[in-house]
Amino acid sequence: MRHGNLFVISGPSGAGKGTLVARLVREVPDAWVSVSATTRAPRPGEVDGVHYRFVSDEEFDRLVATDGLLEWAVYGGNRYGTPRATVEEHIAKGDQVILEIDVQGGFQVRDKMPSARLVFIEPPSLQVLEERLRGRGTETEEAVAERMETAKVELSRKMEYDVRLVNDDLDGAVRALAGYVDEQAERTRG
Ligand code: 5GP
Repeated sequence: MRHGNLFVISGPSGAGKGTLVARLVREVPDAWVSVSATTRAPRPGEVDGVHYRFVSDEEFDRLVATDGLLEWAVYGGNRYGTPRATVEEHIAKGDQVILEIDVQGGFQVRDKMPSARLVFIEPPSLQVLEERLRGRGTETEEAVAERMETAKVELSRKMEYDVRLVNDDLDGAVRALAGYVDEQAERTRG
């Protein structure tokens, strides 16, 4: 059996992290994706407990106060955090635990768990990123502009990640991501 490992997947909103991670879990049988807590309102189609745990500000305060989060950050005016207990349980069980979180969170995870592997997903270009964000149709113009600014900040930190994958061809990016997770997990086979 492989030992449990922790992987952080970051990259600008619209880079296609969600789709990549959904495909990754079909390719890598012991991969498990953490469900974050957030104070953001659900988008149409998002299900509580599946995409996120949607919590109130008070509930989020309580999670922070009780050290219930491995990391947390403010993104676009909302708070997002990784529940600590479930992540620790799945690592102990031998899963390849995947956190789809922003760069602020990624660096907090690296500080707390230096063995974590940080993967940065890059969009093919800023123009493609903007088109994808608009195409979603769920974001206001103001939110698109804000996410583009955040994207530039995130992209400026990509060299601090362990690896970078350009998501220009989905199948190729899935293969590269699954290949990286498998390669790292095999190093810890007991
Ligand atoms: P969205 O609102 O588009 O679902 O997510 C916005 C950003 O928050 C994305 O970059 C996403 O990866 C990040 N995010 C989601 N969950 C977490 C979390 O638990 N912690 C941190 N630090 N970022 C998160």
